[in-house]
Amino acid sequence: MRFVSTNKNSSPVGFLDAMKRGLAPDGGLYMPENVPVLDQGFWQSLHRFDFPDIAFQMAHPYLADELSDDAIQTLVNDAFDFPLSLKSLTDGHHILELFHGPTLAFKDFGARFMARLFSESTEKSQAEVTILVATSGDTGSAVARGFYKVPGVRVCLLYPKGKVSPLQEKQMATLGENITALEVDGVFDDCQRLVKEAFTDEELNQALQLSSANSINIARLLPQSFYYAFALSELQKKGISDVIFSVPSGNFGNLTGGLLAKKMGLPVKKFIAATNVNDVVPQFLKGSGFLPKPSVQTVSNAMDVGNPSNFARMLHLYGGSEEAVRNDLAGYSYSDSQTIETIRAVYESEEYLLCPHTAIGYRAASEFKNSKLSSSSEIVTLATAHPVKFRDVIEKEIDIELEIPNTLKKDLERKKTSIPMGSSYGEFRSFLFEF
Ligand SMILES: *Cc1c(COP(=O)(O)O)cnc(C)c1O
Repeated sequence: MRFVSTNKNSSPVGFLDAMKRGLAPDGGLYMPENVPVLDQGFWQSLHRFDFPDIAFQMAHPYLADELSDDAIQTLVNDAFDFPLSLKSLTDGHHILELFHGPTLAFKDFGARFMARLFSESTEKSQAEVTILVATSGDTGSAVARGFYKVPGVRVCLLYPKGKVSPLQEKQMATLGENITALEVDGVFDDCQRLVKEAFTDEELNQALQLSSANSINIARLLPQSFYYAFALSELQKKGISDVIFSVPSGNFGNLTGGLLAKKMGLPVKKFIAATNVNDVVPQFLKGSGFLPKPSVQTVSNAMDVGNPSNFARMLHLYGGSEEAVRNDLAGYSYSDSQTIETIRAVYESEEYLLCPHTAIGYRAASEFKNSKLSSSSEIVTLATAHPVKFRDVIEKEIDIELEIPNTLKKDLERKKTSIPMGSSYGEFRSFLFEF
């Protein structure tokens, strides 16, 4: 299986190369040259498989040229060794809980899958790889955890000082071993600029084998298609055969994973793109062009993206047809006060607590149900993070006290070990040469 660039100006490469490069040389994102379609029998009998088996079947066509079946099986077993579940609420509403991994957000799926693939491929080449990641929070914690103690890989995370939550900081800046966190005296954009400069610094690239683990990496996208099939497998056990998905979105990697699953044959009637006020995609779906704008800060901060990179992939999957994208998707966007109102209402009526991101997905699902577009299909909202991760926001607005899970308590007890770093490239560069 070969992977091509969405900009169509780079030569096709295999999966592992596409992963190591991150971005294609022409600046585009990697996508499979042809999306493999799995047979009807598989999609109709999902209920007979558990999650690692579904993941194996869906990963196999992409990886089989480069890894043995045993290696793929071990990969999915190790990467997905935590539970996921589908909770059914009233009115045909279901919540796909993707937040039971080590950092309590869905990004664990992509980060753990990618980390294990990296260790496979570095074992073969024996060269040590240095992964640079700029993060505003959730990505850093998932990547740090995913790559912790993975042989042959060192991770250097850059995060903006004082601009990540205390919990996020504990999750990424306390691990040690092969994970180094740099606390940059600046904002997220400074972190991103430092990483970009490092990638274009030829002398540095000769000294170190650099790679990136940001969310546009194909190895993080692929596993985000697997759990859509898991949701349907659970619904099939109740006699339901097709479904609508509502996806709380920022950079649109998660939703693109769903579109990929559909292209592979998963029967999905529609996808709902749910955003906060950073509503570039819902606006596009209403008929405007794709018009990126500066991002606005909200309570669902992991979705504060003004120029979603994965839009290029969405278009690519539909052969460049904007109309075809509009046919498969409905878009909704909500303000912070609507987000909080939804958390409160669902907690009161269903005794179920949503994180601010998931609340936006849930509200979009409800609005879609009440619209004239609606059909009798069941709707699954992807729950992207555990509510406790946003306990400051939730406890301030709603009269409850959230219990902190044991894994988080341990995170909170650990000591920060990050290294202070200025925002000039010179300082970062010297650090990397000594690293
Ligand atoms: C990253 C993230 C999102 C947005 O996912 P995209 O793939 O960027 O659209 C939503 N919710 C949470 C909790 C996240 O961490």
